[in-house]
Amino acid sequence: MPVDRSLYIIPNDSPVCQLDAEDAFKTLSEKERKYAHYVAKASFDGALAVFLQVSPESAPIFYVLYRLFKAETVDQLKEKAIAVGFTEAEWQAFLVYTAAFYNNSGNYKGFGDSKFVPGVEQTKIRALIEKSAVGTDEKVLKTWESVESKIGSLQTTELQLGFGDKGVTCYHSSNVTQEDSEKIDRFFKQRNLAFWNTRLFKEVGADGKTTFTIKLASSEEGVVSEPEEFEGVVIQIIRGDYSLLMKRTHEWLAKAIPVVANKNQEEMLKKYIEHFKNGDIDSHKDGSRYWIKDVGPAVESYIGFIENYRDPAGTRSEFEGFVAAVNKETSKKFQALVSNAEEILKQLPWGADYEKDTFLKPDFTALDVIAFGSSGIPAGINIPNYDDIRQNEGFKNVSLGNVISAQPKQKMNFLDEHDEELMFKFHKDSFEVQVGLHELLGHGSGKLFQKNADGTFNFDNNKVKDIITGGPIATWYEPGETWSSKFGVLASAYEECRAEAVGYVLCCNPDILKIFGYTGELAHDVKYVNWLSEIRAGLLALEFYQADQKKWGQAHCYARYVLTKVVLEAGKGFVKIEETKGEDGKPDLHFKLDRNLIDSVGRPAVNAFLAKLQAYKSTGDFEGGKKLFESYGAVGETELQWREICIARRKPRRIFVQPNTVENNGEISLVTYPAEVSGVIQSFVERYDAKAIEELYTCWKNDYKWF
Ligand code: ZN
Repeated sequence: MPVDRSLYIIPNDSPVCQLDAEDAFKTLSEKERKYAHYVAKASFDGALAVFLQVSPESAPIFYVLYRLFKAETVDQLKEKAIAVGFTEAEWQAFLVYTAAFYNNSGNYKGFGDSKFVPGVEQTKIRALIEKSAVGTDEKVLKTWESVESKIGSLQTTELQLGFGDKGVTCYHSSNVTQEDSEKIDRFFKQRNLAFWNTRLFKEVGADGKTTFTIKLASSEEGVVSEPEEFEGVVIQIIRGDYSLLMKRTHEWLAKAIPVVANKNQEEMLKKYIEHFKNGDIDSHKDGSRYWIKDVGPAVESYIGFIENYRDPAGTRSEFEGFVAAVNKETSKKFQALVSNAEEILKQLPWGADYEKDTFLKPDFTALDVIAFGSSGIPAGINIPNYDDIRQNEGFKNVSLGNVISAQPKQKMNFLDEHDEELMFKFHKDSFEVQVGLHELLGHGSGKLFQKNADGTFNFDNNKVKDIITGGPIATWYEPGETWSSKFGVLASAYEECRAEAVGYVLCCNPDILKIFGYTGELAHDVKYVNWLSEIRAGLLALEFYQADQKKWGQAHCYARYVLTKVVLEAGKGFVKIEETKGEDGKPDLHFKLDRNLIDSVGRPAVNAFLAKLQAYKSTGDFEGGKKLFESYGAVGETELQWREICIARRKPRRIFVQPNTVENNGEISLVTYPAEVSGVIQSFVERYDAKAIEELYTCWKNDYKWF
């Protein structure tokens, strides 16, 4: 079946939302602003690496677009575009493409991993480049030639991220298969190595011998471990991936050291700098340890190779760096939630044996993002992702207030008018509750049963009973095994599902809603809107199901869909999804959730499911967990029909425009841009100096032969 190109074009009416950090920035002292500025620069420069992680053409597209928009203003370019034959709509489409490209850090959606292409033919883009101020620049033209056939093409294997035989990725060279990556998994496990900041490259020599090169992200180059035999192949580890970009990152971090607020921040930065220099994960872990201890800072940040959602193997991570200022009012609510966490945890459907020995009270703050470098901006974060630190030393939660509040006024599909009104009215409130519960008591809860290196266990093997079988615990994590290594590609979606379910269940508790300031009728509305919004989101998630490959991409979508299936199965008319005909005569859906049945039907169903999720997670029973999860994740005939309607009626996703911090005579100011696609483009052009982009280009050239 030919691909419907329109599905891969970012719509011209995509809403652009301001990531409003002005008030938050104002609260910072001069010193704090400097600190924020340097860490923001480190975050954004480091995040150029994401373009090298996503697709082979992302870095060169960045190069061309940057040079184009750096040399001339949007208005000047528009005039030339119209002269070479762009229509008004095509020009807008080109701007939308460019803004979305920057916003997603590449030409695959940060949310959903599918490719997007310009809504204008590449021959016209070429004509524009040739007519532009960089039209005679050999480097620009040559770079454009190398991506011209890729930018708009929609071959089956290019539609989404995946291993080279099915999709696109730059976490691995294009010849790496799933089987290869599993072999490397075994190697990593045997050597007790960490994946986070690595990429994998495969070479088959003239003698037929296969060599795998594992590259660590670092500014320094060199050999980490000499080539050695493993299961019939040769494996070597070297450092120096994205070398120039990592150098920029640690140089900016070094500038932040004189303006730190305390000793923890200083030690943290020193460790991060070490990490970005030599690629050693232990340095980053140590940095994260200092970071956990830096409780309630005025300027919060985190930086490194953090989330592994986008690696087809589910282990290698995307670069991410952010800086944010604390919103003191909302943070108070979250701190109250933390204070009550131990009591609240008891309401979760597993006993004390399945909970950590002591709940490590995390720092939980509400932040307004000043800078976020990565392929997307989440609403909340629970980090670090290192299991051993999370379990034994602690973690931090953040809720990103200005991300949550940046809601475009779009029509909401499938809802009654009254429900839509309620959604507009209470979405921010309910989502704040959901994010708080999801991060703190979702990701923050539960214990992994681990066998220690000395043969002892971190649980009482004679006493603890298996939630599913009622018998003794039969499986656990062996030394060196972690949640991600054990659950692999399913780990992200499964864990997101567990955290989401915790939010659904706990938001029904009036005492918890009271902590957030909601009582009486208001509390009922917030709870209802949370269920309505989340269960409906599980329906809309179908957009992100890859029907041709029978595969789920985006972890959060998969997670929400599973929970929507759980409550549909619970029946009793709690959730109704009916096919209807829209006013336009085309197929439509009607979504209804009975608010009177949340406590009697919805909550018990999710609670029972949540207990099972935790049981399989705690015991490291991947087979059991996979079977359960995939049974609910299955997409049948009816759901495929719903999916068609969801796709036909989908609303464009928001594009963020972020501010820049700028240093002038030793003073830092915040520069904001209009909430338009041209504002997004301008923010990028001003964010990066020309040298940084030349260095991105050099990194890309070094990579080129692998893809
Ligand atoms: Zn989460």
